[in-house]
Amino acid sequence: MSRKSASHIVIVGAGAAGLMAARELASAGRKVTILEARERCGGRIHPLATSAFGYGAAGGAEFVHGEARVTRALLVEAQLSLQVIQGTQWSLDDGKLSREARYDPHEAAELHRALAELTDDLTIAEFLRRHFAAPQYERMRQSIARMVEGYDAADPERASTLALRDEWMGGGLHAQTRIVGGYGALVTHLVEQCHAHGVAMRLGCIVSAIEEADGGIVVRCGNGEVHRGDAAVVTVPVPLLQEIALPPAARAKATAAADIGFGNVIKLLLRFETRWWLDRNKELGDLTFLLSEATIPVWWTQHPATHPVLTGWFGGPKTAGLAGLDRAALIDAGLASLAAIFGLPRDELAQKLAAAEAINWAQDPFARGAYSYATPQTRAAQATLTRPDGAVLFAGEALYRGPDMGTVEAALSSGRETARVILEGR
Ligand SMILES: Cc1cc2nc3c(=O)[nH]c(=O)nc-3n(C[C@H](O)[C@H](O)[C@H](O)COP(=O)(O)OP(=O)(O)OC[C@H]3O[C@@H](n4cnc5c(N)ncnc54)[C@H](O)[C@@H]3O)c2cc1C
Repeated sequence: MSRKSASHIVIVGAGAAGLMAARELASAGRKVTILEARERCGGRIHPLATSAFGYGAAGGAEFVHGEARVTRALLVEAQLSLQVIQGTQWSLDDGKLSREARYDPHEAAELHRALAELTDDLTIAEFLRRHFAAPQYERMRQSIARMVEGYDAADPERASTLALRDEWMGGGLHAQTRIVGGYGALVTHLVEQCHAHGVAMRLGCIVSAIEEADGGIVVRCGNGEVHRGDAAVVTVPVPLLQEIALPPAARAKATAAADIGFGNVIKLLLRFETRWWLDRNKELGDLTFLLSEATIPVWWTQHPATHPVLTGWFGGPKTAGLAGLDRAALIDAGLASLAAIFGLPRDELAQKLAAAEAINWAQDPFARGAYSYATPQTRAAQATLTRPDGAVLFAGEALYRGPDMGTVEAALSSGRETARVILEGR
């Protein structure tokens, strides 16, 4: 059966990509079944209890990055709005809190020139060794490593310089924003749409194998359920592709996933009784991001909202050093980091704590990390994985070939594109 005439599509994963693909296919009249391992939809969009944090807090995705056209169109549809993040970024340097020092414009110009002249891709670590190895560039190297590891959750020894160049110099200034009510509200909208179009949703179904049989596919789950369809769309995070038995041609394609970087993040949310940091320094009233070298190095507030919550962030390969810490120990590491940054006793902060959550995404069995990043081989790997042949197709944030890979926008776009491939029989 050709995919164009595929009448029943089985989607593996109910994250942003899976829900979007399901909605598009079902609204075009196809029968759709979603099989999701967790007991909830949303995947790496992970809303936390509003009762605990006082707002739609996020254990996973929180910000809307870049132009995000698909996300913004969905928000309009769902009558949700965006709030622009304003305020001041601070950093702790040599034990002193100060408004983030501006990057040396002279160095920035040199960096931009070297990036602009680049024709062949190489890893960011190699790029820095070739162009900025001299001692006077140490601060620049540190700042780039901080950004690549912290923001992109990437390993500088693997991350693509051309992809980072596009991210840093890609033009088009877009303010960083948050969805009012959080990404959870967007997931709720997509789930409602899926239900309205008759999508069958099975939660708690860990897909273990997909086989080709009688011109269609057979999908087997760990709980013994078996689902038959004409085509499958697999949207699981790339590290989990290895854990699903696939037909030989799909398995051969899936090996390309090894060329896609996948980084980790540890995210903490600490809600206190008050915004005690204002007592330390009144000027911190409009604090947004706070950068430090503490164990949990990056923190942010919900400014302009005044929730007494600090969100901690630690990204990149060095998170492996905290692999031995459970949730309670991570919360403790967060308190110790804040105590060191603000010069306060850890116990004093612990007493002010009203609610806390900590997630090491590498230890989430259905994510195995936070999000993907490009290596110099990633574009070729994505072309292989998205080749529209066979009855098993792949989608998800890691397969998005536009800018801002690794985001919710990337996942939504990939899900929508894969649905189009099926509907148009490409
Ligand atoms: C801490 C953190 C912060 C982030 N911050 C942002 C941000 O601010 N802005 C942004 O745009 N993006 C952010 N992201 C990235 C964003 O969350 C992801 O890119 C996006 O949600 C991925 O969607 P997806 O559908 O591709 O994958 P997922 O959301 O991972 O969906 C895949 C689904 O497959 C399921 N699954 C896995 N294995 C199986 C199996 N064997 N059988 C059945 N189901 C299975 C999973 O449970 C999951 O629900 C963040 C991610 C993390 C972890």
